[in-house]
Amino acid sequence: MLVNIILPILSVVLGFFIVFAFKPNKAKYLKLLLAFSGAFLLSITVFHFLPEVYNSDYKSVGLFIMIGILLQIILEFFSKGAEHGHVHISKNETTFPWLLFISLSIHSVLEGLPIDGHTNLIYGIIIHKLPVAIILSTFFLASKMSKAKSLAFLLLFALMTPLGVFLSANFNFFEDYHIQISAIVIGIFLHISTTILFESNEDHKFNITKLATIISAIIIAYFI
Ligand SMILES: [Zn+2]
Ligand SMILES: [Zn+2]
Repeated sequence: MLVNIILPILSVVLGFFIVFAFKPNKAKYLKLLLAFSGAFLLSITVFHFLPEVYNSDYKSVGLFIMIGILLQIILEFFSKGAEHGHVHISKNETTFPWLLFISLSIHSVLEGLPIDGHTNLIYGIIIHKLPVAIILSTFFLASKMSKAKSLAFLLLFALMTPLGVFLSANFNFFEDYHIQISAIVIGIFLHISTTILFESNEDHKFNITKLATIISAIIIAYFI
């Protein structure tokens, strides 16, 4: 369990330091990282997570998957898509972006709940978190928001998925509704990962590097 708490924090810290140290201005590499993370999360979901939950013989699994998809659609009205890779608040904003923070937090706590007890799910999540952390850090370092507010946002964001892991290990409620919660998170992942793949291919132009990136993510998730 400890690893499942530490890895999501490291993923956000790494994203922050990549931005802080290298100030990456190559959108091309970020797009490839996003494409990789989307394909990897989708593959982990369909190769491992989905079969494990469907195997449990619970009739409403499909219903809860659809609830998860719907929930993520609703969350994105408020986060404007930060979970899958873009930030839409104005750089001149100086107040703490509460709506973004709350919707991103609900998403992040939820994805932490099923990590314990599902094969390789942690890897799908930390790889999906890395580009999100890079995008958020880039935004905050360039924004007019105070350093304290920016760091508080990133720090709290880093702690949300570990909070989910902690809650699932310490409260019976999450054990009792493990299947339903896992199915909701599957829905969330199906929605964000396919959105990432769709948006990374917006112009529908053939791009061999992007295609190779996506295929390698699928292969790695399959053999992991
Ligand atoms: Zn989007
Ligand atoms: Zn997420």
